[in-house]
Amino acid sequence: MSNRCSDFVKADCIYKNQNEQIEVRVRDLLSKMTLNEKAGQMTQIERTVATHSAIKDLSIGISLLISLNLLILSGGGSGPFDKASPCDWADMIDAFQNSALQSRLGIPIIYATDAVHGHNNVFGATIFPHNIGLGATRDADLVQRIGAATALEVRATGVHCAFAPCVAVARDPRWGRYYESFSEDTEIVRNMTSVVAGLQGLPPAGHPNGYPYVAGRNNVIACAKHFVGDGGTDKGINEGNAILSLSDLEKIHMAPYLDCLSQGVSTVMATYSSWNGSKLHSDYYLLTTTLKEKMGFQGFVISDWEGIDRLSQPHGSDYRYCISESINAGVDMVMVPFRYEKFLEDLIFLVESGDIPMSRIDDAVERILRVKFIAGLFEHPLTDRSLLDTVGSKIHRELAREAVRKSLVLLKNGKHPNKPFLPLDRSARRILVAGSHADDLGYQCGGWTMTWHGSSGNITTGTTILDAIKEAVGGETEIIYQKYPSPDIFAAKDFSFAVVVVGEAAYAEALGDNSVLEIPFGGSDLISLVATRVPTLVIMISGRPLVLDPGMLEKVDAFVAAWLPGTEGAGILDVVFGESEFVGLLPVTWFRRVDQLPLNAGDHSHDPLFPLGFGLKKFGVENHSIE
Ligand code: BGC
Repeated sequence: MSNRCSDFVKADCIYKNQNEQIEVRVRDLLSKMTLNEKAGQMTQIERTVATHSAIKDLSIGISLLISLNLLILSGGGSGPFDKASPCDWADMIDAFQNSALQSRLGIPIIYATDAVHGHNNVFGATIFPHNIGLGATRDADLVQRIGAATALEVRATGVHCAFAPCVAVARDPRWGRYYESFSEDTEIVRNMTSVVAGLQGLPPAGHPNGYPYVAGRNNVIACAKHFVGDGGTDKGINEGNAILSLSDLEKIHMAPYLDCLSQGVSTVMATYSSWNGSKLHSDYYLLTTTLKEKMGFQGFVISDWEGIDRLSQPHGSDYRYCISESINAGVDMVMVPFRYEKFLEDLIFLVESGDIPMSRIDDAVERILRVKFIAGLFEHPLTDRSLLDTVGSKIHRELAREAVRKSLVLLKNGKHPNKPFLPLDRSARRILVAGSHADDLGYQCGGWTMTWHGSSGNITTGTTILDAIKEAVGGETEIIYQKYPSPDIFAAKDFSFAVVVVGEAAYAEALGDNSVLEIPFGGSDLISLVATRVPTLVIMISGRPLVLDPGMLEKVDAFVAAWLPGTEGAGILDVVFGESEFVGLLPVTWFRRVDQLPLNAGDHSHDPLFPLGFGLKKFGVENHSIE
């Protein structure tokens, strides 16, 4: 093309001058863009449909990677390519970036992924506890360090943006995304937003509230999601309806966004859910009047995956309606429109026909370009390969292990007052290890790990609870692992004690919606079977409280909620063998029966099994702390 920037005299290339002010660069670049290029910038396409020519010729703004492994697996079976390496990621993303740099104005793409508990789609990366476990730590500094470690691993693979954190205030454990929330309590969630400063870097004092910030190449663009009220839907239905007064919506669900904005969060994702029947993707009052105007957000609002398509029934059937409603309401970047070519065509049509004002398009593109300039993508578009060693590094695994230790909540310790059962004896003669979750890294990590919904088994590198027990005990100790022991083994074996590990299967989003909330895989029966024969510690791996039958609970000697701890199972054993103390406190209310739900601290008829903030702090049974 004749008007490539390199053909301009220097004064025309203000946007390429890194010494120029960001806002001046933004306006300069915007002034050079065609409507087609602007529309391209507002589009996010998925890796599997992204072509180099689309990125180059359509000026696509952002691309997304769900899981590189999936694509390669489907082509290569269990061959040498079944586990894409961090380097494979960086190569692929750099290739996409090079296509973007060849576009007329050379605008780099943002590459984004759901790094929600570490860089969780990458084989061998460090997987941290899911947010509910981090909420149990109450440790904002730890969570900030986890954000910084995640940013390094993400950047090492060429990715620039993490769709994290989820700052939902989860009010109902029936919700399939409960574990993505730090807590049912707004103040706890607010405190945990320190993860933003870890991901993006801590802005200097005086940084303007609401203005995006990314410190440098060791940091990523963060995304606070899902705005707003996702955790407050009726009956905990995913993508459901939050029935709330404006003041409750603000007080309970919106407050954490203020903290994210004060730390310069660069992007905000709209929620699929509705507020009093109004879908957030088309809610002008919340997206524009509130978030952008009142709260002063100057980064960009991204839709959720095919989120705008859901504005018409069947999804996407009246696509022009979906586009004009969402863009006019304040959505700036559209994630994975069902067919992006059609999206571009319709968006351009709607602007040309006056349904979407040009000023709205310019505002959206300005916001997107602002984030790209702030993140330094024009100066450093390609991957810094020197970071590759950080992926799954020893130091990051040690940090994850610390997080696991601090996330454990001790719910019961001993059957008699002043006779604690824990810590366990490392030199016991014979230990029975049992349960569906004792030796399952996939279950330990939960959803959003290697695949969207997660899975069972040896999905990445890490330490299961069984591995960690074997490492922790002395050479004299015999460990017998039986996933589902038969009642006959007990008499002959004379176990010193048993560790039974039960919990939920992996799930994500609506797949996890559940109104029964019992321990799956016959967990309660297994616990009763073992605990009536041998002194028993139960460790529960779950994204939420589950129904604990009082009779069953009475039989066990100790009970630990370990949430979804991730790859470093050894952290659990550090504590149950007594090297570290229990410090975790319940981030949520532990209900007795599902007919009590929703049940949150402060509710009228509040009769929980364990209240928010409960946690036996030391090995003695009496020293518990309630907030
Ligand atoms: C989820 C988002 C996620 C997006 C991209 C959606 O289904 O709601 O949290 O960031 O997918 O994977």
